[in-house]
Amino acid sequence: MKMALIAHDKKKDDMISFCKKHVEVLKRHQLFATGTTGHILMKETGLIIHCFRSGPLGGDQEIGARVANGDIDIIIFFRDPLTAQPHEPDVSALFRLADVYKIPLASNTNTAELFFQTLQ
Ligand code: PGA
Repeated sequence: MKMALIAHDKKKDDMISFCKKHVEVLKRHQLFATGTTGHILMKETGLIIHCFRSGPLGGDQEIGARVANGDIDIIIFFRDPLTAQPHEPDVSALFRLADVYKIPLASNTNTAELFFQTLQ
């Protein structure tokens, strides 16, 4: 599967822990991420990840374009609901496209855990 990984700054530790826990499953998939999330995850987990631009600099939109083109199968996006984001329109647009194309999107760790129970 083609999987996109994104975490807002205050959720990056959650994303690192999640990816370390599921590293063996993640290795079997093609991974994409926004810039900062992806580079941190590669350093912390050794996973190979195609990194787009940082989210606030257009990375969410780059992933959205892939969704629109049918090139993303699942999105793990640990969103920070308590901090205003300068690129909130881009975030909303990505969530919207995920719904348009019926792409599973986990926005918190518990949802992502449920997704991963079905992934091999
Ligand atoms: P980042 O972007 O991985 O570059 O921090 C994530 C986001 O805020 O969309």
